[in-house]
Amino acid sequence: TQEFSNFGRQLAGGSGIEELMDDLGHALATGGPDICMLGGGQPAHIPEVNALWRRRMEEILAEPGAMERTLANYDPPRGNPKFIAAVASLFHREFGWKVGPQHVAVTSGGQTAFFFLFNLLAGEMPDGRRKKILLPLVPEYIGYANQGSCGDLFRAVPPKIEKTGPHEFKYRVDFDALKVTDDIAAICVSRPTNPTGNVLTDEEIARLSDLAKAHDIPLIIDNAYGAPFPNIIFTEAKPVWDDHIILTLSLSKIGLPGTRTGIVIANPKIAAAVASMSAVIGLANPNIGQAIAQPLVESGEILRLANETVRPFYIEKSSQAREFVAESFGGDFDYYVHRSEGALFLWLWFPGLPITSRELYERLKKRGVLIISGHYFFFGHDDESWRHRHECLRMTFTMDESIVRRGIRIIGEEVRRAHEEA
Ligand code: PLP
Repeated sequence: TQEFSNFGRQLAGGSGIEELMDDLGHALATGGPDICMLGGGQPAHIPEVNALWRRRMEEILAEPGAMERTLANYDPPRGNPKFIAAVASLFHREFGWKVGPQHVAVTSGGQTAFFFLFNLLAGEMPDGRRKKILLPLVPEYIGYANQGSCGDLFRAVPPKIEKTGPHEFKYRVDFDALKVTDDIAAICVSRPTNPTGNVLTDEEIARLSDLAKAHDIPLIIDNAYGAPFPNIIFTEAKPVWDDHIILTLSLSKIGLPGTRTGIVIANPKIAAAVASMSAVIGLANPNIGQAIAQPLVESGEILRLANETVRPFYIEKSSQAREFVAESFGGDFDYYVHRSEGALFLWLWFPGLPITSRELYERLKKRGVLIISGHYFFFGHDDESWRHRHECLRMTFTMDESIVRRGIRIIGEEVRRAHEEA
């Protein structure tokens, strides 16, 4: 029997993110019309968006040498120089940030950027200490959970739960419980947050930034859904960057997940380290996404796409999904939906759910509805007696209306059945 290293066990030992992507990939590849895929973070196929990718592919094919420069070449490990210059100049133009190409590094998707950043900053240090990444608010993105190359990397703080409506709540950072100890290497948040659709307020972000700065550690802000693209934010939120802030972006949620394009904006030392890691692990990054997006980033057309097409599309999807919830859940069991302020998900909380969310996931899967059990998103915080972590689920609202509606109806039926059986 083949023995695996600790690194191997950590990464190849099964994970929530693998289960999720496997469900998602197979449902998309082979799933019949009967599967309600509300599990993964697959962005919608928005016709105007796909039309733009088609136009760009045609332009690349029509321009002499352009296709060859892309498909038949390696880029430098940091990413395509023209794309990097376009990104730096967009952020400078839009937000007035003092960023140049030396602050930018491309990775093979945002997911890879996180693997690099977490393992660059935390884990075993040269002096033997072990450092951790502090998550100031869980639930937090499931995709971080297994990324530590030498074991568990996270320390997480449960949030304050604020009820904001008869069936609505919002998580807030519990600053009284948030302690930056000597073994914390960095603070990390996704904003908008996957899984909840929470957008940390400007005040929360300012306090986290001050806290990080005071301890001389980075604040990592995962901007996979944020401004200026894809800008899947439904509230007002000010984008921030500073020398101690590491901002990550991605082309996935604006509609190019298959190109695997992540972008890190950080001080030159961190950006250069990310580029070095890209060289060792992958030589170079996939370049087709950068080639498609580069003129759009240069001209600012990508902002128009985000603001006029992508954002309104998801605002509508979110509001529709919440209507379906109100229509299907009725008054016979307790439920709350996290305030939907961005991203692609509804986060549902069933206080007093008689079964675990994991069991609910299994029952829903048997009925052809794929969601993600909420317990996966509470990594880094071990208190199993906190029931809340087994009472939530994440569902994606990007699929066709009929699928979302049917999925929500079946979720309601299964929660009702669990209560009836109890
Ligand atoms: N960060 C968050 C919060 C996400 O939701 C995702 C994808 O769902 C990622 C990062 C990684 O995305 P990608 O690797 O496609 O850029």
